[in-house]
Amino acid sequence: MHLAGKAAVVTGSTSGIGLAVANALAAQGAKVLINGLVAKPEEGEAIAAEMARRHGVEVRFHGADMARPEQIAEMIAAAAEAFGSVDILVNNAGIQHTAPTEAFPIERWDAIIAVNLSAAFHATRAALPYMQQRGWGRIINTASVHGLVASVHKAAYVAAKHGIIGLTKVVALENADRGITCNAICPGWVNTPLIQQQIVDLAARDGVDIDEASRRLVGAKQPSKGFVQPEQIGALVSFLCSDAASQLTGASLPVDGGWTAQ
Ligand code: NAD
Repeated sequence: MHLAGKAAVVTGSTSGIGLAVANALAAQGAKVLINGLVAKPEEGEAIAAEMARRHGVEVRFHGADMARPEQIAEMIAAAAEAFGSVDILVNNAGIQHTAPTEAFPIERWDAIIAVNLSAAFHATRAALPYMQQRGWGRIINTASVHGLVASVHKAAYVAAKHGIIGLTKVVALENADRGITCNAICPGWVNTPLIQQQIVDLAARDGVDIDEASRRLVGAKQPSKGFVQPEQIGALVSFLCSDAASQLTGASLPVDGGWTAQ
Protein backbone atom coordinates (compact mmCIF):
# COMPACT_ATOMS: atom_id res chain seq x y z
CA MET A 1 0.00 0.00 0.00
CA HIS A 2 2.75 2.45 -0.97
CA LEU A 3 0.28 5.13 -2.13
CA ALA A 4 -1.91 5.33 0.97
CA GLY A 5 -3.17 8.89 1.35
CA LYS A 6 -2.08 10.01 -2.12
CA ALA A 7 -4.64 11.55 -4.49
CA ALA A 8 -4.69 10.47 -8.13
CA VAL A 9 -6.51 11.64 -11.26
CA VAL A 10 -6.62 9.20 -14.19
CA THR A 11 -8.18 10.54 -17.38
CA GLY A 12 -10.02 8.14 -19.68
CA SER A 13 -10.35 5.53 -16.94
CA THR A 14 -13.84 4.12 -17.49
CA SER A 15 -12.39 1.55 -19.90
CA GLY A 16 -9.26 -0.25 -21.08
CA ILE A 17 -5.80 0.85 -19.92
CA GLY A 18 -7.05 3.77 -17.79
CA LEU A 19 -9.43 1.52 -15.86
CA ALA A 20 -6.58 -0.92 -15.12
CA VAL A 21 -4.30 1.96 -14.08
CA ALA A 22 -6.95 3.41 -11.76
CA ASN A 23 -7.44 -0.04 -10.19
CA ALA A 24 -3.68 -0.46 -9.73
CA LEU A 25 -3.40 2.91 -7.95
CA ALA A 26 -6.48 2.23 -5.79
CA ALA A 27 -5.02 -1.18 -4.88
CA GLN A 28 -2.00 0.69 -3.46
CA GLY A 29 -4.24 2.85 -1.30
CA ALA A 30 -4.55 5.98 -3.45
CA LYS A 31 -7.78 7.97 -3.59
CA VAL A 32 -8.71 8.12 -7.26
CA LEU A 33 -10.76 10.40 -9.47
CA ILE A 34 -11.77 8.48 -12.57
CA ASN A 35 -12.95 10.10 -15.81
CA GLY A 36 -14.37 9.10 -19.14
CA LEU A 37 -17.04 9.70 -21.73
CA VAL A 38 -20.06 7.68 -20.64
CA ALA A 39 -23.68 7.70 -21.83
CA LYS A 40 -24.97 8.70 -18.36
CA PRO A 41 -23.06 9.92 -15.28
CA GLU A 42 -24.54 6.97 -13.32
CA GLU A 43 -22.42 4.65 -15.48
CA GLY A 44 -19.21 6.38 -14.36
CA GLU A 45 -20.43 6.56 -10.78
CA ALA A 46 -21.12 2.80 -10.80
CA ILE A 47 -17.55 2.09 -11.98
CA ALA A 48 -16.23 4.37 -9.21
CA ALA A 49 -18.41 2.68 -6.58
CA GLU A 50 -17.22 -0.79 -7.63
CA MET A 51 -13.56 0.33 -7.50
CA ALA A 52 -14.06 1.90 -4.07
CA ARG A 53 -15.71 -1.29 -2.77
CA ARG A 54 -12.98 -3.52 -4.21
CA HIS A 55 -10.03 -1.57 -2.80
CA GLY A 56 -11.49 0.17 0.25
CA VAL A 57 -10.49 3.66 -0.93
CA GLU A 58 -12.35 6.81 -1.98
CA VAL A 59 -13.08 6.85 -5.70
CA ARG A 60 -14.98 9.59 -7.52
CA PHE A 61 -16.12 10.00 -11.10
CA HIS A 62 -15.86 13.21 -13.13
CA GLY A 63 -17.30 13.33 -16.66
CA ALA A 64 -15.09 16.12 -18.03
CA ASP A 65 -14.74 16.06 -21.81
CA MET A 66 -10.98 15.99 -22.48
CA ALA A 67 -11.55 18.04 -25.63
CA ARG A 68 -12.71 20.99 -23.45
CA PRO A 69 -9.95 22.88 -21.58
CA GLU A 70 -12.35 24.52 -19.11
CA GLN A 71 -13.85 21.14 -18.15
CA ILE A 72 -10.34 19.72 -17.62
CA ALA A 73 -9.49 22.58 -15.23
CA GLU A 74 -12.79 21.99 -13.42
CA MET A 75 -11.97 18.28 -13.04
CA ILE A 76 -8.54 18.96 -11.49
CA ALA A 77 -10.06 21.55 -9.14
CA ALA A 78 -12.79 19.04 -8.16
CA ALA A 79 -10.16 16.40 -7.34
CA ALA A 80 -8.17 18.85 -5.22
CA GLU A 81 -11.33 19.94 -3.45
CA ALA A 82 -12.44 16.37 -2.72
CA PHE A 83 -9.05 14.86 -1.82
CA GLY A 84 -7.10 17.88 -0.52
CA SER A 85 -4.53 17.71 -3.33
CA VAL A 86 -3.56 16.13 -6.63
CA ASP A 87 -0.39 14.08 -6.20
CA ILE A 88 -0.60 11.76 -9.21
CA LEU A 89 -1.88 12.61 -12.68
CA VAL A 90 -2.19 9.99 -15.39
CA ASN A 91 -2.98 11.56 -18.77
CA ASN A 92 -4.48 8.59 -20.52
CA ALA A 93 -7.66 9.49 -22.43
CA GLY A 94 -7.25 8.79 -26.11
CA ILE A 95 -9.08 8.24 -29.37
CA GLN A 96 -8.08 6.91 -32.77
CA HIS A 97 -9.00 7.34 -36.41
CA THR A 98 -7.22 5.83 -39.38
CA ALA A 99 -7.17 7.19 -42.94
CA PRO A 100 -4.56 8.24 -45.50
CA THR A 101 -3.34 11.78 -44.81
CA GLU A 102 -4.90 13.29 -47.95
CA ALA A 103 -8.30 11.89 -46.91
CA PHE A 104 -7.95 12.43 -43.15
CA PRO A 105 -11.10 14.24 -41.92
CA ILE A 106 -10.12 17.66 -40.50
CA GLU A 107 -12.60 17.26 -37.67
CA ARG A 108 -10.93 13.92 -36.63
CA TRP A 109 -7.48 15.55 -36.73
CA ASP A 110 -8.69 18.35 -34.44
CA ALA A 111 -10.38 15.92 -32.05
CA ILE A 112 -7.35 13.61 -31.78
CA ILE A 113 -4.93 16.51 -31.18
CA ALA A 114 -7.33 17.90 -28.54
CA VAL A 115 -7.90 14.65 -26.62
CA ASN A 116 -4.57 12.84 -27.13
CA LEU A 117 -2.24 15.85 -26.78
CA SER A 118 -3.72 19.18 -25.67
CA ALA A 119 -5.72 17.58 -22.83
CA ALA A 120 -2.46 16.40 -21.23
CA PHE A 121 -1.13 19.96 -21.31
CA HIS A 122 -4.30 21.40 -19.77
CA ALA A 123 -4.45 18.78 -17.00
CA THR A 124 -0.72 19.04 -16.25
CA ARG A 125 -0.91 22.84 -16.16
CA ALA A 126 -3.78 22.69 -13.67
CA ALA A 127 -2.31 19.90 -11.49
CA LEU A 128 1.34 21.02 -11.21
CA PRO A 129 0.77 23.80 -8.61
CA TYR A 130 -0.66 21.24 -6.14
CA MET A 131 2.38 18.99 -6.61
CA GLN A 132 4.84 21.89 -6.43
CA GLN A 133 3.23 23.08 -3.19
CA ARG A 134 3.88 19.68 -1.54
CA GLY A 135 7.22 18.96 -3.23
CA TRP A 136 6.00 15.58 -4.47
CA GLY A 137 4.26 14.52 -7.65
CA ARG A 138 4.01 11.94 -10.38
CA ILE A 139 2.79 12.69 -13.91
CA ILE A 140 2.47 9.74 -16.24
CA ASN A 141 1.42 10.14 -19.84
CA THR A 142 0.04 7.21 -21.80
CA ALA A 143 1.81 7.76 -25.10
CA SER A 144 2.25 4.81 -27.46
CA VAL A 145 4.84 3.11 -29.62
CA HIS A 146 3.42 5.68 -32.04
CA GLY A 147 5.19 8.33 -29.97
CA LEU A 148 8.45 6.70 -31.06
CA VAL A 149 7.77 5.31 -34.54
CA ALA A 150 5.07 5.77 -37.17
CA SER A 151 2.54 3.64 -39.01
CA VAL A 152 0.57 4.50 -42.12
CA HIS A 153 -2.88 6.11 -41.90
CA LYS A 154 -2.35 7.48 -38.38
CA ALA A 155 -1.24 11.07 -39.05
CA ALA A 156 -3.10 12.67 -36.15
CA TYR A 157 -2.44 9.88 -33.65
CA VAL A 158 1.29 9.68 -34.42
CA ALA A 159 1.64 13.48 -34.34
CA ALA A 160 -0.18 13.68 -31.00
CA LYS A 161 1.82 10.82 -29.45
CA HIS A 162 5.17 12.24 -30.62
CA GLY A 163 4.01 15.56 -29.17
CA ILE A 164 3.16 14.11 -25.78
CA ILE A 165 6.66 12.67 -25.52
CA GLY A 166 8.06 16.16 -26.06
CA LEU A 167 5.69 17.56 -23.43
CA THR A 168 6.80 14.80 -21.03
CA LYS A 169 10.46 15.85 -21.34
CA VAL A 170 9.74 19.56 -20.80
CA VAL A 171 7.60 18.95 -17.70
CA ALA A 172 10.24 16.53 -16.36
CA LEU A 173 13.02 19.11 -16.79
CA GLU A 174 11.05 22.01 -15.30
CA ASN A 175 10.27 19.97 -12.18
CA ALA A 176 13.35 17.76 -11.86
CA ASP A 177 14.52 19.32 -8.58
CA ARG A 178 11.04 19.61 -7.05
CA GLY A 179 10.25 15.99 -6.20
CA ILE A 180 8.05 15.67 -9.28
CA THR A 181 8.68 13.16 -12.05
CA CYS A 182 7.04 13.03 -15.47
CA ASN A 183 7.30 10.00 -17.73
CA ALA A 184 5.60 8.55 -20.80
CA ILE A 185 4.57 4.92 -21.25
CA CYS A 186 4.62 3.63 -24.81
CA PRO A 187 2.44 0.54 -25.16
CA GLY A 188 2.32 -1.61 -28.27
CA TRP A 189 -0.97 -3.40 -29.04
CA VAL A 190 -3.28 -3.63 -26.02
CA ASN A 191 -6.62 -5.35 -26.64
CA THR A 192 -9.08 -2.58 -25.68
CA PRO A 193 -12.09 -0.93 -27.38
CA LEU A 194 -9.68 1.62 -28.96
CA ILE A 195 -8.30 -0.90 -31.46
CA GLN A 196 -11.52 -2.86 -32.21
CA GLN A 197 -12.23 -0.95 -35.43
CA GLN A 198 -8.75 -1.78 -36.73
CA ILE A 199 -9.36 -5.49 -36.01
CA VAL A 200 -12.77 -5.35 -37.73
CA ASP A 201 -11.26 -3.57 -40.76
CA LEU A 202 -8.46 -6.15 -41.02
CA ALA A 203 -10.97 -9.04 -40.75
CA ALA A 204 -12.97 -7.54 -43.64
CA ARG A 205 -9.87 -6.85 -45.74
CA ASP A 206 -8.39 -10.36 -45.30
CA GLY A 207 -11.73 -12.24 -45.14
CA VAL A 208 -10.91 -13.83 -41.76
CA ASP A 209 -12.67 -14.02 -38.38
CA ILE A 210 -11.99 -11.61 -35.49
CA ASP A 211 -9.63 -14.00 -33.64
CA GLU A 212 -7.48 -14.50 -36.73
CA ALA A 213 -7.57 -10.77 -37.49
CA SER A 214 -6.37 -10.03 -33.93
CA ARG A 215 -3.49 -12.49 -34.36
CA ARG A 216 -2.53 -10.92 -37.70
CA LEU A 217 -2.73 -7.36 -36.35
CA VAL A 218 -0.44 -8.13 -33.41
CA GLY A 219 1.89 -10.44 -35.35
CA ALA A 220 2.55 -7.80 -38.03
CA LYS A 221 4.25 -5.40 -35.57
CA GLN A 222 4.86 -7.08 -32.24
CA PRO A 223 7.57 -9.81 -32.18
CA SER A 224 6.17 -11.29 -28.92
CA LYS A 225 2.97 -12.01 -30.89
CA GLY A 226 0.96 -11.38 -27.72
CA PHE A 227 -1.14 -8.41 -26.64
CA VAL A 228 0.13 -6.22 -23.80
CA GLN A 229 -2.32 -6.60 -20.89
CA PRO A 230 -3.87 -3.41 -19.40
CA GLU A 231 -2.87 -4.69 -15.92
CA GLN A 232 0.78 -4.69 -17.02
CA ILE A 233 0.51 -0.96 -17.74
CA GLY A 234 -1.20 -0.52 -14.35
CA ALA A 235 1.74 -2.26 -12.64
CA LEU A 236 4.24 0.02 -14.41
CA VAL A 237 2.31 3.14 -13.39
CA SER A 238 2.28 1.89 -9.79
CA PHE A 239 6.07 1.41 -9.97
CA LEU A 240 6.57 4.90 -11.45
CA CYS A 241 4.68 6.29 -8.46
CA SER A 242 6.95 4.51 -5.96
CA ASP A 243 10.02 5.87 -4.22
CA ALA A 244 12.14 3.40 -6.23
CA ALA A 245 11.32 5.49 -9.33
CA SER A 246 12.09 8.91 -7.83
CA GLN A 247 15.09 9.39 -10.16
CA LEU A 248 13.30 8.07 -13.23
CA THR A 249 12.03 11.13 -15.10
CA GLY A 250 11.66 12.41 -18.64
CA ALA A 251 11.71 8.86 -19.98
CA SER A 252 9.60 7.18 -22.65
CA LEU A 253 9.17 3.54 -21.66
CA PRO A 254 8.13 1.06 -24.38
CA VAL A 255 5.95 -1.88 -23.30
CA ASP A 256 5.61 -3.32 -26.76
CA GLY A 257 6.71 -6.95 -27.03
CA GLY A 258 9.79 -5.80 -28.97
CA TRP A 259 7.97 -3.65 -31.59
CA THR A 260 10.37 -0.69 -31.37
CA ALA A 261 13.51 -2.84 -31.00
CA GLN A 262 13.31 -3.74 -34.69
P1 NAD B 1 -10.28 2.78 -24.54
O1 NAD B 1 -11.10 3.19 -25.70
O2 NAD B 1 -10.55 1.48 -23.85
O3 NAD B 1 -10.32 3.91 -23.41
C1 NAD B 1 -10.27 5.27 -23.71
C2 NAD B 1 -10.78 6.05 -22.52
O4 NAD B 1 -10.72 7.42 -22.85
C3 NAD B 1 -12.25 5.73 -22.17
O5 NAD B 1 -12.41 5.79 -20.77
C4 NAD B 1 -12.99 6.87 -22.86
O6 NAD B 1 -14.25 7.16 -22.25
C5 NAD B 1 -12.01 7.99 -22.63
N1 NAD B 1 -12.21 9.11 -23.53
C6 NAD B 1 -12.20 9.14 -24.88
N2 NAD B 1 -12.47 10.38 -25.32
C7 NAD B 1 -12.64 11.15 -24.22
C8 NAD B 1 -12.96 12.52 -24.00
N3 NAD B 1 -13.15 13.36 -25.02
N4 NAD B 1 -13.08 12.95 -22.73
C9 NAD B 1 -12.91 12.11 -21.68
N5 NAD B 1 -12.60 10.80 -21.83
C10 NAD B 1 -12.47 10.34 -23.08
O7 NAD B 1 -8.79 2.85 -25.07
P2 NAD B 1 -7.37 2.39 -24.45
O8 NAD B 1 -6.75 1.48 -25.43
O9 NAD B 1 -7.48 1.98 -23.04
O10 NAD B 1 -6.59 3.78 -24.57
C11 NAD B 1 -6.06 4.48 -23.48
C12 NAD B 1 -4.80 5.20 -23.92
O11 NAD B 1 -3.83 4.24 -24.30
C13 NAD B 1 -4.99 6.13 -25.13
O12 NAD B 1 -4.26 7.33 -24.93
C14 NAD B 1 -4.38 5.32 -26.26
O13 NAD B 1 -3.91 6.15 -27.29
C15 NAD B 1 -3.27 4.62 -25.54
N6 NAD B 1 -2.74 3.43 -26.21
C16 NAD B 1 -3.56 2.37 -26.50
C17 NAD B 1 -3.00 1.27 -27.17
C18 NAD B 1 -3.82 0.06 -27.55
O14 NAD B 1 -3.33 -0.80 -28.28
N7 NAD B 1 -5.05 -0.07 -27.06
C19 NAD B 1 -1.65 1.26 -27.50
C20 NAD B 1 -0.87 2.35 -27.17
C21 NAD B 1 -1.41 3.43 -26.52
